[in-house]
Amino acid sequence: MAANALLQWYRQNARELPWRSPPGAAVPGDADWPYRVWLSEIMLQQTVVATVRGYFERFTARWPSVAALAAAEDGDVMQAWAGLGYYARARNLLACARAVVRDHGGRFPADEAMLRTLPGIGDYTAAAITAFAYGRHAIVIDGNVERVITRLRAIDTPLPAARAAIRAVLADLVPADAAGDFAQGLMDLATRVCTPKNPRCGDCPLQPDCRAATTDDPSRWPVKAARRPRPTRHGTAWWIEAEGEVLTIVRPARGLLGGMRALPSSDWGDAAEAVPPVAGDWVHLGAVSHGFTHFELVLAVRGLRLAAKPALAGDWQNVDEMGEVGLPTLFQKAATLARAIFKTSEAA
Ligand code: SF4
Repeated sequence: MAANALLQWYRQNARELPWRSPPGAAVPGDADWPYRVWLSEIMLQQTVVATVRGYFERFTARWPSVAALAAAEDGDVMQAWAGLGYYARARNLLACARAVVRDHGGRFPADEAMLRTLPGIGDYTAAAITAFAYGRHAIVIDGNVERVITRLRAIDTPLPAARAAIRAVLADLVPADAAGDFAQGLMDLATRVCTPKNPRCGDCPLQPDCRAATTDDPSRWPVKAARRPRPTRHGTAWWIEAEGEVLTIVRPARGLLGGMRALPSSDWGDAAEAVPPVAGDWVHLGAVSHGFTHFELVLAVRGLRLAAKPALAGDWQNVDEMGEVGLPTLFQKAATLARAIFKTSEAA
């Protein structure tokens, strides 16, 4: 009953997305379709659809197949990924593409367990590829699905412990022949109707079966376990400008923002002060902050303008082209701050 109502609603309300086959249609059989589904799912982790669209179009235009992506230069992919955040995903993206080419003849496996052996593919992504790319039965659970199902059955167990109950509900609901449409229908419903705040129960196809809708506050589900506050770490980024250029480095491959182009910076820890890479009349330009999964970073930005380039390891980039060198968001914020302050001081 609930599944039929949802599928009918999805046929009339599905979002058109370049990585999705239309509701009711068989999944495309070409070899690049699973690649598109996989790429979109990796990009959509922690990033909204509106942001992903542009990245997806650029990636698939430049690397139209998993083989093309596997053959790409690491630096080109990291640069193209800049702005999507969570750079471990970009490194896993390349590792996964290369594993698919090396171990699976350039075609993603259609089996969930086999998919989970690939870098960067967890339970959700394996189920999503199985259902969306191959049209096979799979139980796809993301945060949107969790929200709708905990409301539908008024599941009071806090997340993440509620996932077992959510899976059990879905095992009964997911139609054997339309698992992909069902999951994508739930996701679209969660985005458009069963929203985190103020769900529009009056417009919802699941309302006749929904327990939360019989209460005066459906938005109280899902119940979330109390979160511990994230600790704050401190660091310093160094903006070194000479002869119209700025020093950048590539961060070590392992660790946060690994392999990404960046400004030189101190370690990120408890101490706010750090020793600059070169002696000089450093100016405190301000600070930027950025939330990582497990901590909040406050990065002080210090600037130094020299007449000649000092002998430091790294690459010098034109000041006016710093927006195009593929800095991750944190360092882009620091660069924008430094540019603004130094420009102001030039004008004064
Ligand atoms: Fe969500 Fe309301 Fe629909 Fe229940 S009836 S699934 S709470 S929008």
